Amino acid sequence: MRLVLLGAPGAGKGTQAAFLKERHGLAHISTGDIFRYNLKNQTPLGLEAKKYMDAGELVPDEIVMKMVGEKLSEFAPDEGFMLDGFPRTVAQAEFLKSKIKLDGVILFHVPDEEIVKRLSSRAVCKDCGNVTSRLHNDKCPSCGGELYTRDDDNEATVRSRLKVYHDQTEPLEDFYRAQGLLLEVNATGHPEEVFKQVIALLSHDKD
Ligand code: ADP
Ligand code: ZN
Repeated sequence: MRLVLLGAPGAGKGTQAAFLKERHGLAHISTGDIFRYNLKNQTPLGLEAKKYMDAGELVPDEIVMKMVGEKLSEFAPDEGFMLDGFPRTVAQAEFLKSKIKLDGVILFHVPDEEIVKRLSSRAVCKDCGNVTSRLHNDKCPSCGGELYTRDDDNEATVRSRLKVYHDQTEPLEDFYRAQGLLLEVNATGHPEEVFKQVIALLSHDKD
């Protein structure tokens, strides 16, 4: 199975990806994680991407497409994966279409105000990378590690990321709807609730 997870920042794509990885053994390809990994290791790619990430803007298509192209070439034809955070522009989606055949695109719907609320309390574990909320935790609920806030999870940057989503990524909803690939989920509920919808949609989709 080859899926795209689509939705605004903070819609819960990463959380659902972790569930899907466990249940279906799909590899999780997150372009945001790849950039953050490169930044942490101070690679040229990471330092270049940082300028855009800090401003809440998209990293230019050529850079992202080269990086994703290399990543995709690591997978055998029968290996399943989910793309999280890619594609984010129509040009990226056209590029992906030229490379692989997708089985579905899951769209996670969350209202903007809910997104702003979620991201302003979002925290990540320094030790295990678990993503959680400061509203309910001051240490990582899974390993007890210390939590930190992502540089781009401040309100001003969140607002620009949302605007970028509406302007540049939302057109992909119609792009994939027209290809009969779009599976839509209401992602305002609890993660387990959302996952039930995902499972139901995917099992339906196979028929
Ligand atoms: P979000 O929480 O906004 O979904 P991500 O972790 O997916 O965040 O991405 C963080 C940042 O990395 C984005 O704001 C953007 O600057 C950059 N980025 C990630 N994926 C892409 C992409 N496909 N195209 C352009 N920029 C990207
Ligand atoms: Zn942890």
